[in-house]
Amino acid sequence: MLIDTHAHVNFNAYKDDAGEIIRRSLDNDTWLINVGSQYSTSKRAVELAEKYERGVYAAIGLHPIYARDKFDYKKYEQLAQSSKVVAIGEVGLDYKEEYASFKGKQKELFLEQLQLVRKLPLPVIFHCRMAHKDLITILDKQQKANKEQLKGVVHCFTGSWAQAEKYLAMRLYLGFNGIIFKMNLDDIIKKAPLDKILIETDCPYLTPPSASTERNEPICVRYIAEKIAQIRSISYEEISKITTENAKKLFNL
Ligand SMILES: [Zn+2]
Repeated sequence: MLIDTHAHVNFNAYKDDAGEIIRRSLDNDTWLINVGSQYSTSKRAVELAEKYERGVYAAIGLHPIYARDKFDYKKYEQLAQSSKVVAIGEVGLDYKEEYASFKGKQKELFLEQLQLVRKLPLPVIFHCRMAHKDLITILDKQQKANKEQLKGVVHCFTGSWAQAEKYLAMRLYLGFNGIIFKMNLDDIIKKAPLDKILIETDCPYLTPPSASTERNEPICVRYIAEKIAQIRSISYEEISKITTENAKKLFNL
């Protein structure tokens, strides 16, 4: 089996066929975590997860690109009461040009959500684009100031090996998706400890080139497993097994 640790079947791209997509995923022995980016999509992720006995989970959070929206701590705290909520995410920093004008707000929101993380406590799905330096600084401070260490994954990792090493030293996982077909991350994938690698689709985005549909979906996580197996020169079965174990361990599935 496989686990797509970062999917968005809770997004509008699947408003007409979310049930069908999830069924296809479960029928192919692929579990998934739908990740929220706003309150509405977080709530939708929980609603979807609650329809299935097992195999479908939710992460809730306010994405940094929406950092100018109000973060309603209480409402998220209430959502987190569902046993299907396995992480807070995606949260973090996004310094892409159009969002760089509110870096301060992003940091504020991120710290606010980390408070919720500590209260619950749950693992975190970190989103980080062009902001690894600041994210590492914040997490480093957090890890030093608190007895309880944050657990989590840096999803869609595209940083350098030096940055990867810093996250690994904080015992965080690295998440890889279809971006590995666009950017050359082979060196990082080769060096990362196998027990710290997670696979994901980030669907509907980042469709792997060998997928038969234009819109990405959780079953396509197998292409990520295949590519990583090839880069590591190990079998597909082995990479499936270890990444599934990693996901189950981190998210307590
Ligand atoms: Zn995402």
